Amino acid sequence: MDPSRAVRKLRENPRKMIDAAHRGSLLELTEIANMWQEAPQVLSMGVLDVFFRHLDANTTPTNPERAIDRNSTIDRAFMSMVGLTKAGNFLTEHDDFGDAITKAWPGVFKWSAFFFAGRVQNKNAKPEMQKSTLDVISGTWYSLSRSEKARKAMNATKGSIEIATQMWVLEDRGKIPSVIDIPSASAALDTLLRDDTQAALDRVLAAAGGEPDNIVQLSLSRLRTSVNGPGIRDPAKTAIYLDLIGHLSRGQRHPLRHAFLHANTITLCTKVALSASQLLNQGGPPGLLDVMVASFGYLANYLESTEGFTWVTQAIQAGLLTAFVDCSPHFSKVDDEDRDTILTIVRDILPKYLVYRSVILAVDGTIRKLSEAPHNKRIMQSVAWGIWSKFHELALERYMVTIQAKALKGKGATCDNVKCHKVDSKNNFRKCASCSTTLYCSKECQVIAWKEGRHKAMCKMKQRERLEGKLQSISRSDSIFFHHLFTRDARNHLPRLRRLALKDYPGTTKTALVICIDYTVIPPKYSLIPLAKYEESLPDTRGSPNTEARNEALLERARENPGKFTIIQSKIANGEALQIVMTVVTGSFWEDRDNPWIEDENEAAEHGDDSLSGKTVDGVDMMMARMALNSFLRSQGEPETF
Ligand SMILES: [Zn+2]
Ligand SMILES: [Zn+2]
Repeated sequence: MDPSRAVRKLRENPRKMIDAAHRGSLLELTEIANMWQEAPQVLSMGVLDVFFRHLDANTTPTNPERAIDRNSTIDRAFMSMVGLTKAGNFLTEHDDFGDAITKAWPGVFKWSAFFFAGRVQNKNAKPEMQKSTLDVISGTWYSLSRSEKARKAMNATKGSIEIATQMWVLEDRGKIPSVIDIPSASAALDTLLRDDTQAALDRVLAAAGGEPDNIVQLSLSRLRTSVNGPGIRDPAKTAIYLDLIGHLSRGQRHPLRHAFLHANTITLCTKVALSASQLLNQGGPPGLLDVMVASFGYLANYLESTEGFTWVTQAIQAGLLTAFVDCSPHFSKVDDEDRDTILTIVRDILPKYLVYRSVILAVDGTIRKLSEAPHNKRIMQSVAWGIWSKFHELALERYMVTIQAKALKGKGATCDNVKCHKVDSKNNFRKCASCSTTLYCSKECQVIAWKEGRHKAMCKMKQRERLEGKLQSISRSDSIFFHHLFTRDARNHLPRLRRLALKDYPGTTKTALVICIDYTVIPPKYSLIPLAKYEESLPDTRGSPNTEARNEALLERARENPGKFTIIQSKIANGEALQIVMTVVTGSFWEDRDNPWIEDENEAAEHGDDSLSGKTVDGVDMMMARMALNSFLRSQGEPETF
């Protein structure tokens, strides 16, 4: 077949050729099947019907062994599938052919199953035949599945997802290179999984042998191979692999999602985004934009699935912020929806995690480097600048709080005995040996608190809490920092909280109100709940049984000792689970720092003053924290732990 002659022939007299192919002439059918995309006007002349006619379900041989023998019916069917592989690009816009494809699909499927069993799975078939057949079936399916209507029919067919999965498994097996320039089996499976989730994923899992890890390992090893070497060798391939990983992860609570996360897919995707940024900035091909969108897409969708803290930490350590900043000049080149998905990472997701000390420190370390050339120029001139500078500001503010916390460490500790509540430097206190957190000014106070003050029960809970913290990979310094941050923020908002108390609960003593801070929204939201009605207002998502018990004990203690305590309840993000952290300060918290200058809210926001207890200690305002930070950095470089 002379390709240019065939195209000329088709352009000159399409009707004649189509009719001949329709009647069954293998010559014309072959010419059209291979070349029709060069003369797309034949689409409106019924070229697809020609292919469908030769893929009639009634003519499919029953014995797949016959597939390696050749006869004209089999040859015409196979050639028609070759023709259908070219249809994909013409089907997406208006889905004009959706009904026709849906009607013809049972025949296409039956022939596909016949060829798959007879030419791909058949051990007597030559490797070349196995490979080219796999390419043609998967190419046809990828092509047809781009019609939304057809995709529905395809998914509903028993055995379709199963064959698509098996083709995907076999895709790069053997040494024979593909005749199609994209991994069409990956692309076909990816497209088929576009609408359906849970049920389709169960079918994929079963067809691949039932082991989620096998699917994960195959997906990730292909992704790694496609990005290996000096840069991303094949952007189109990489983007399809990434996209498929995203679709395979879509089932909420599905074993595949978990298997991908636990195989460090977050790290891998972050590194792919990082390589894409480097190559794009060196003037790499536009195909890299798809890689950028797909890798950030996975991160935007799954950073917060299951336990968010773990994945956010992992992504930041793998270079998420650098990837974001360095990719930012290219955000304007992708469509609105894709851009918004990327921006949501720094606009909506990461800020919520700037309550964990470890996240704050990791972010701060990177942000410093990103404030220098060439990174700062990239982000400043990009569409992400506004979002980035807000994030930067919050990260810096929270970093200052870690410095304050450090400066205040050990100062202003309070004796745990409610009848005493003495405030002094931590060095002058004794620690409970069992939980090693609770402090007493004297042996006597410790005995009283153990016997009358319920420390016995609280002590056990504190020990268990530490264990749980380790399991959730939230470190002790993270939980200590929570207390510091929440107390500081509540204190800085005292004027507002006092006004709120006066307006909503005029008859209630302030210490009988729980201060609520919601850190899952940006900026955090402040509200009050009467201690008496606290349980009724709790959100559905709760902590572990032990955290619950501890919180209940704290509430009880506050109720039994009116005026002695103020409870601060904070909602913080941790993936699908919302975390409630309760902090207790002494009752005098409300009255402290009643200086006239703090009554102005704007000023209050600027002058952070703080203590680890409710009592007054020497305030460290932001100015001092900045100074402390500078000399600190000069002397030590990186901040140390508590
Ligand atoms: Zn005491
Ligand atoms: Zn204890």
